[in-house]
Amino acid sequence: MPTANPLFEEALDHARRIAREIAAVHAPAVDRDARFPIESIAALKEARLLSAPVPASHGGAGFSMRELGQICATLAGACGSSGMVLAMHYIQVACIARHLDGSKLFDDYLREIVECQHLLASITSEVGTSGDTRSSICAVERADGRFKLDKEATTGSYCAHADAILVTCRRDAGAPKNDQALVLVRKADTLQLQQTTTWDTMGMRGTCSPGFSLKSAGDEAQILPVPFGDIAAQTMVPYSHILWAALWSGIAADALARAAAYVRGEARKNPGTTPHTATRLAEGHVQLQSMRHNWQAVADEFDGITDRAELLSIGWALRMNQLKTSASDTAPQIVHRALQIVGILGYKNDSPFSLGRHYRDTLSASLMISNDRIMAKSASMLLVFKDE
Ligand SMILES: Cc1cc2nc3c(=O)[nH]c(=O)nc-3n(C[C@H](O)[C@H](O)[C@H](O)COP(=O)(O)OP(=O)(O)OC[C@H]3O[C@@H](n4cnc5c(N)ncnc54)[C@H](O)[C@@H]3O)c2cc1C
Repeated sequence: MPTANPLFEEALDHARRIAREIAAVHAPAVDRDARFPIESIAALKEARLLSAPVPASHGGAGFSMRELGQICATLAGACGSSGMVLAMHYIQVACIARHLDGSKLFDDYLREIVECQHLLASITSEVGTSGDTRSSICAVERADGRFKLDKEATTGSYCAHADAILVTCRRDAGAPKNDQALVLVRKADTLQLQQTTTWDTMGMRGTCSPGFSLKSAGDEAQILPVPFGDIAAQTMVPYSHILWAALWSGIAADALARAAAYVRGEARKNPGTTPHTATRLAEGHVQLQSMRHNWQAVADEFDGITDRAELLSIGWALRMNQLKTSASDTAPQIVHRALQIVGILGYKNDSPFSLGRHYRDTLSASLMISNDRIMAKSASMLLVFKDE
């Protein structure tokens, strides 16, 4: 689809170059050593891609959801962890950009993101909330224009490498668990960020997402002025599910591209014949096309929404849930199909057709906000929703 933003084609070219020349080169080491993809992130900063979601009014590129998704998918095809870090960062930037509500501090901070290419992380998880992002145990305390916030996180991606973390918590000590606020904790406000668990996982190893014990204090104005419930529904959930679906499709596309290269090699060995694996390749492309069209259609729909109240409707919430569960189920299926095509060369870690990292990375998709949890919410919504 043609893009209206004149900056986009150049940005996508940068993303393609970074994917090809940097992310792909370091991806095996990032995966093997479970280390942060420093080279990819440094290159993204240099290309000024970290401020892509910041509106033009604040000096950013102001890219649409569709455009951000294409950038994430491009990078993820080369290195799933790099793509995931970028997507998670974009989600946080969007939470600030879309919910400033006149705050001078956040207005200035958005411009600072553009100027300094800050990297933002997120802590929604908490020991004791069982993966439910919409409930918190910890609470932010306010006194004399300052805040104090301590949180025990079960999972926090690249927190040790980020310039700031957006942290969910209860609005105050008397608030119920779902009455939450979102707080910007910059490096300067972090009194303690102590790693409490390890991150030796099957996949997405470069996201470096162990548990953390966070202690922080700062200016009270760093608490976003809008309740987290609204930020979640209008921004965090749509940006997460759409950008994640985009990047998972990028990983699946690269797996299928490796399978296609293998099939073409087989065809060259026997000119005039079509290898039987080509049929599996064709089947894989059917799945990839629906996966791509699904996230792109939802992204376009999101970009076309002018009244944010629509994002609070049951119909929209169901579409978000359906996109997430379907993309996270389909991505590993496509990689599995690619593996059946390539065979042992895909199973080997040291072959150019290797698919191990793609497989392991996409297996995180159904767990990252558990599909069962999402399906249970959809099931209860469907009891009252009439699709017209
Ligand atoms: C790669 C990766 C990066 C991450 N990065 C971050 C990050 O940066 N910041 C952050 O805060 N978190 C992060 N997370 C954590 C993520 O957001 C979730 O909190 C976490 O994956 C959910 O953990 P869980 O499976 O223990 O929890 P749960 O969702 O509670 O799931 C536990 C089990 O209960 C089942 N279950 C749960 N609810 C229901 C239900 N209603 N009906 C039926 N079954 C149910 C699930 O299927 C599962 O089997 C990351 C996770 C991954 C995989």
